[in-house]
Amino acid sequence: MEDLSAQEEGCSSLSSDFISGTKNDDTPRFDPASPDEGQIDLVILHFNDVYEVESRKEEPAGGAARFATAIKKFSFLNPLIIFSGDCLNPSALSVITKGKHMIPILNALGVHFAVFGNHEFDFGLDLLEEYRKQIQFPWFLSNVQDKVTSEPLGHGIIKTIVTWNGVQIGFMGLVEEDWLDTLATINKSNLNYVDYVKVANELSVELKAKGAEVIIAMTHMKWVNDIRLAQSTEGIDLVLGGHDHDYGIKQVNGTWIVKSGSDFRNFTRINIKKVGEAFHYTFRKIDVLQHLEEDTHIQSIIQDSAQNLQTLLKEVLCPIDVELDGRVTTVRRVESNLGNLVTNAMLEATHADLALLNSGTLRSNRIHPIGNFTMHDLLSILPFMDALLVVRITGERLLEALENGVCRYPALDGRFPQVAGIEFGFDPNAEPGHRILRDSVKIQGQYLRRKHIYRLAVKEYLANGKDGYVMFQDCPRMFGTETAQMLFTVVMNHFESIKIVRGTKQCCSGHRMSLVTKSKSTSLIAFETRTDEQEAIIAVPGIEGRICHISQDMKEHLQQIRMERQEGFLDLLLI
Ligand SMILES: [Zn+2]
Repeated sequence: MEDLSAQEEGCSSLSSDFISGTKNDDTPRFDPASPDEGQIDLVILHFNDVYEVESRKEEPAGGAARFATAIKKFSFLNPLIIFSGDCLNPSALSVITKGKHMIPILNALGVHFAVFGNHEFDFGLDLLEEYRKQIQFPWFLSNVQDKVTSEPLGHGIIKTIVTWNGVQIGFMGLVEEDWLDTLATINKSNLNYVDYVKVANELSVELKAKGAEVIIAMTHMKWVNDIRLAQSTEGIDLVLGGHDHDYGIKQVNGTWIVKSGSDFRNFTRINIKKVGEAFHYTFRKIDVLQHLEEDTHIQSIIQDSAQNLQTLLKEVLCPIDVELDGRVTTVRRVESNLGNLVTNAMLEATHADLALLNSGTLRSNRIHPIGNFTMHDLLSILPFMDALLVVRITGERLLEALENGVCRYPALDGRFPQVAGIEFGFDPNAEPGHRILRDSVKIQGQYLRRKHIYRLAVKEYLANGKDGYVMFQDCPRMFGTETAQMLFTVVMNHFESIKIVRGTKQCCSGHRMSLVTKSKSTSLIAFETRTDEQEAIIAVPGIEGRICHISQDMKEHLQQIRMERQEGFLDLLLI
């Protein structure tokens, strides 16, 4: 029996089980007993996806400080500590610190190897490169190459072999193709992606040839892709995954896949024992429970970061040369330049066709003067943690959404929309539900087509049907919340790119978020190309006629145009 029970007492959940098996044993066994410590050749501690450093009220309470105490209880076993990505963002603290507080925390935890998560790139590659110098462990990325440097993105390590407690272990780091689409600050066309199955097969052969006895793929991808990796490759023994935030252990095609929860609430202890020529694996889920003491060093890092927030909030995001109107009486009744700025940034981060924001999101209720626009100003505008999603929606449903947006006008209702990539007019005097003039709605410069599917950038809050936008609830989402950018961060990245374009900030990596350019048609949003002149870039958009109040005369005029358009179309058909 395991004599570790005393050490584990503080951190093991009562429900945690042992799952054990050797490779090619497809039936996991639940074993109430722990293996004999004397028979273990190697212990791995694995965790992934850590965002919130504070603990929660409900169990497992987690928190970085308790997590550190739990990890330290195993230090006498000389464990390998593996992290499967996503730590720099998003959290309430991260959006302000840009994830910097996570560096000393992960260093103090004694992480040995990690794979990049998509959120490591949220604040741009330049900042990640700076952080990489302070991080005391290597990051892996074996299947994405940066075309600018011809090196793995973020200078990730492709493969390595380490000897740990006498066992030779080969490592690689793999991500899925969707991972590339979620990097808001890096253009996919600047990357070379190779299918993780192909890379895993090649690297497994190389690592085996160099003497690796156990091969570990650290991954940051969805379960379905981890399963495909295990099904389609030979030679990988362990897939230590992240990105999904659930806890799970599966054996597929003789390969074990482990996902260890999220947010410093759980981790996995993996025991590896050599039995003849084969290796025997046992797994234990460790829950980080309330009664564990908090590690004082980690606690002080968190406290220092929180105290430092006031200083960080003074950072100038960008000098602005026009006033930004965030008054409730503006944003909840008419198009505002602040709404245009935020929705433009939503498109820049997602490259969706259009963006719609409920104006209740914009909380500052004041005019932001010309001059230095600071992090504090942005926080007063966007104080909530809002995940940004992209949904697929028909033109028909979009019309319903617009009707919902203006149905309470002139009341100062937070559902009133601010938009980008779309222009529309509404008759404030018409009955609610019949106010939008279909003939006035253009998306990306084209008249709305009812059956056409558009890609719409919205907050998760609206995608969940809030503020009356129930029509968004059933719309398919193009990616999950765990992949989403934070609204606050995308506006911050907009200003970062503006500074780079204006030459007030250097861009060492050659990667930044693409900006939208000025265009003659209000609703036509174009993204910059390398040849665009600096003047074509929009730092703060003006009022462009995206949302128009329409009178009876204008209504008749628009109907007339529509009829002429249809006649012209018929004429074309007759030719
Ligand atoms: Zn992720």
